[in-house]
Amino acid sequence: MFDLIKARLGHGYQAVKDPTTATLDPAYQGFPQILREDAEDFAAAAKSCPTGAIAAYSMDLGKCIFCGLCSRNFPRTFSFANEHQTGASSREALIVHKGLSFQEYRERAIAPSPSFAKICKYSLALRNVCAGGCNACELELNACNNVNFDMGRYGIEVVASPRHADAVIVTGPLTRNMAFALEQTYRAIPEPKVVILNGSCAISGGIFAESPALERSFLERYAACLYLPGCPVHPLNLISSLMRLLGRCK
Ligand code: SF4
Ligand code: SF4
Repeated sequence: MFDLIKARLGHGYQAVKDPTTATLDPAYQGFPQILREDAEDFAAAAKSCPTGAIAAYSMDLGKCIFCGLCSRNFPRTFSFANEHQTGASSREALIVHKGLSFQEYRERAIAPSPSFAKICKYSLALRNVCAGGCNACELELNACNNVNFDMGRYGIEVVASPRHADAVIVTGPLTRNMAFALEQTYRAIPEPKVVILNGSCAISGGIFAESPALERSFLERYAACLYLPGCPVHPLNLISSLMRLLGRCK
């Protein structure tokens, strides 16, 4: 018995202390930086980008899959920093231009929702619908509940029934086969409720955007309140973005 207690004490506190201030390895590809507006580089990078995330002098975080092709091929024009808090509460905020610093992006990207925070500030239940994803986004969502990230300590949890949920968190590109299930899940959630789009697939279709197997009209009927860029979305991005949406970040 005492040995067990000793071993447990030896484990110490294993969770990331504060997901909103935690930093990642410098090699992590998080927030992009457009270093210069070079027409040739942009044209070539746009041609090779697998998701069409690069347009004239901008990058769309809702489409980017963070493959790093552009920064490897054109390092004088594109680079990625390790800042992971890229969640945004509007689709427009995901467009990055030259000179936009991470601090500026972060300040404008998420507008806390006072009405939602009033109801869900200390208890937020998420129902996940995997709408045709590759399962990596779902694995990272699962990881949010493990001992390392421990989302539950903030009262945020993934629940089994939409009847117990406050939000539907959608992963995957929204396939035709999952359209009915997604609609029914959303309708089963009691009001007030919100939609969260997790990953480039959910936000834009990602690498599947051109597929005829997609049916994304759900997003025309229901507006999302949070967009989480990534492929997959890092747990720290997910947790810190939710905390900011709920007005729980200092
Ligand atoms: S890192 Fe993003 S913008 Fe660059 S090539 Fe890959 S998907 Fe396109
Ligand atoms: S965004 Fe990337 S990791 Fe997430 S479901 Fe799509 S392909 Fe998979």
